[in-house]
Amino acid sequence: MRKKKAGAATKRAARTAAKPTPKKQDAPPAGEVLDLKSAAGFLKVSKPTFYRWLAQGKIKGHKAGNQWRFYRADLEHFLRAEEPSALQVDSDALRQAVEKARKARKLPPIEWPEAETPEESTVIGTVNMLIRDAIDARASDIHLDNNADEMLVRYRVDGVLSEVMSLPRDFAKPLVSRLKLMGDMNISERRLPQNGRIFVEHRDLEFDVRVVTLPAQFGESAICRILDQSSILIGLDKLGLLQPMQKAFEKSLHTPNGMIVVTGPAGSGRTTTLYSALNLVNSRRIKIVSIEDPVEYRLRDTMQVHVNRKAGLTPAFAMRMFMHSDPDIILVGDLRDLETAAGCVNAAMTGHLVLTAMLPIEAPSVITRLIEMGIGPFIVSASVITVLAQRLVRRVCPHCKADDRPNPDLLQRLEAQTGLDLSNAKFQRGKGCKECRQTGYRGRTAIFELLEVDDKLRELIARPVTTADFRAAAIDAGMTPMLRDGIEKAAQGITTVEEVLRVLAGEQNEHA
Ligand SMILES: [Zn+2]
Repeated sequence: MRKKKAGAATKRAARTAAKPTPKKQDAPPAGEVLDLKSAAGFLKVSKPTFYRWLAQGKIKGHKAGNQWRFYRADLEHFLRAEEPSALQVDSDALRQAVEKARKARKLPPIEWPEAETPEESTVIGTVNMLIRDAIDARASDIHLDNNADEMLVRYRVDGVLSEVMSLPRDFAKPLVSRLKLMGDMNISERRLPQNGRIFVEHRDLEFDVRVVTLPAQFGESAICRILDQSSILIGLDKLGLLQPMQKAFEKSLHTPNGMIVVTGPAGSGRTTTLYSALNLVNSRRIKIVSIEDPVEYRLRDTMQVHVNRKAGLTPAFAMRMFMHSDPDIILVGDLRDLETAAGCVNAAMTGHLVLTAMLPIEAPSVITRLIEMGIGPFIVSASVITVLAQRLVRRVCPHCKADDRPNPDLLQRLEAQTGLDLSNAKFQRGKGCKECRQTGYRGRTAIFELLEVDDKLRELIARPVTTADFRAAAIDAGMTPMLRDGIEKAAQGITTVEEVLRVLAGEQNEHA
């Protein structure tokens, strides 16, 4: 703090002193502070190059000694002054377009906020409205896509995208710029992806919004992910595990050492499962540490560390650090490289319980993936105790559900595939109502596949085995395949056969 203040005073002195000489581009005297223009001049690079270096983090903070220096506040002012047109927009036209789209969705008119100019008020009001509306619609994401002839705004609700409004393309730049300003991002950098974070208060709740901007063919697009700490259903009983599977998973969490992997593609609810698992075993008698990217939810009595690759704080580095901090349980938010995997199996074999998430879509594939990464089969067999694969499916809307009987041929085929008797099943379907926006679904639950590695499977892993053979052996050993778990939930009226098949078919395509 003190250092910054002293710097600001020196900087003012330096600006006046440095002004007569920037063209000479001599090395500034020791301890001198330059403004950004002079710094670019001193480095003999053009301003765009200098900005690119700044945005890429090649130039960090200020340098001491006989080199130029500058401050982050200077940098931000400078960049904003460089971009006076960012929020310029045809205010009336944008207001009309937004109000028209809202009217079509039967939403009340916006109360435009007070701001210095009508343009600012319109842009700020529109962005605030999009975020608040999305929260009210229970959306997990907002997509602002810059297409050839429009700015398409969509919300993702219960995993499915739906169009909210289409605005003329001219409005894309000011709206994305506004998001970047709110997210403390560099608004003049449009050629590189960026990410930022916005805190929003809405209806007395606090929301954490992660913003990602992507330079695409027709201009920058933005994606906002809405995290709502208060709504996350932490608790194993709330995940949607059927009784026998929940018991088995709980049992494995009470093992003192070994590795538990939750697997599935991004957005399959793995994080919620990991947090719920930790929450079950959390007590003051054990030490829990975690390395996450990002830390999504704060857990009581847990030392949570945020990945910072730029600073060298990788999951693998954190694992080595953790080994000196006497933990009982280690959570590794994402395992996707050999170094991290090696750290995990090492910790699992030296008396720690390791919980982690991976990407394979089937539980048995986790075993083969670890071996492909370079972990020895014997080490994999000695460390992995449980793998839980999962996927999210939409729940039947409770407000408009009614009995349903799927096609008999389809049922017969499913009975053959899953071994379930579906003759007395209570299938249900939502007819569509206001509560579910006519989709017939409201909220989501997960379908699972739990692999418990017993002695027989352990032996099989230690010698070379194909994924298909291992999967067959796992099913022999009692693993319920995900399709069966999903159809069982459809037979209880929780979701529909159609929804389970939609989610699992999506994966087969990804596979190909
Ligand atoms: Zn409904």
